[in-house]
Amino acid sequence: MQYFRFAGECREYIKSLKYRGIKIGFVPTMGALHAGHISLVSQSKTDHLVTGCSLFVNPDQFNDKRDFEKYPRTEKEDVTMLEQSGCDFVFIPGADEIYPQGTPEKIPFDTIPFNNVMEGLSRPGHFRGVIRVVKRLFEIVEPDCAYFGEKDFQQLLVIKEMVNKLKLAVQITGCPTLREQDGIAMSSRNANLSPDERKAAPLIYRTLLDAKAKIPALSVLQLKKWVIGKISSDPKFRIDYFEIAGETTLEPVAGWDHAQPYRAFIATFLGTTRLIDNLRFSS
Ligand code: AMP
Repeated sequence: MQYFRFAGECREYIKSLKYRGIKIGFVPTMGALHAGHISLVSQSKTDHLVTGCSLFVNPDQFNDKRDFEKYPRTEKEDVTMLEQSGCDFVFIPGADEIYPQGTPEKIPFDTIPFNNVMEGLSRPGHFRGVIRVVKRLFEIVEPDCAYFGEKDFQQLLVIKEMVNKLKLAVQITGCPTLREQDGIAMSSRNANLSPDERKAAPLIYRTLLDAKAKIPALSVLQLKKWVIGKISSDPKFRIDYFEIAGETTLEPVAGWDHAQPYRAFIATFLGTTRLIDNLRFSS
């Protein structure tokens, strides 16, 4: 596996691939890798001759400084996992490689896509930071295709919208959420859970599945109340939001006869760790 810390050397390598007409698949991450990340690498390897991954904990997308400081960093283990997965190159930039001017450049959007719901509302500035870093990584790596997880479904839509609006020549592929055996969505943040919290965590996905089974017996409103009640019955949880929204618009649905597919989205604190998950609710 090739290993780059500097944008310049990564660019040189990419140029040599492009010169030979080789297509590149790319998986941007913040490191602390788990099997969910590796599933994206595997999908890229299936689709492309060369696959790269970036490891960069982007300070610009954290609205909470403590969350940034607490974010797990496991670079050595990440590199080993990527080597074992057959990844071809890894880009591990410092902040000065991503933001050479010191501060992130302005983004060419009047309004940030999907910023007025869920993660956009709860984490002011988050998607602005995501857009900046992904746009910059795409400039350096120039991938033909980039892979993002449905685990961060709203982020996936934001990136697709960014690519559309900026007319970037990169295809965005969404990949399904990988889960632990007990159903909890794999996440780097799970490492921050105490043993007790980790034991309680499967309640999130179990509740989403149970809720889905109650459609259409319960109305949207009744179901929302039921989900919030069920999770809040364990005092270790503090729900940030639970929403049922159109899969392409992210607008809350009012009833089950909605014309487009819908999906349930949840964000909850478990202790001090904030976890998100989502599940398609329409068949
Ligand atoms: P992160 O390092 O958390 O920013 O995640 C990097 C990429 O991996 C994002 O596109 C995530 O949506 C994706 N990802 C994170 N967790 C999972 C998971 N459990 N299953 C599939 N993809 C995931």
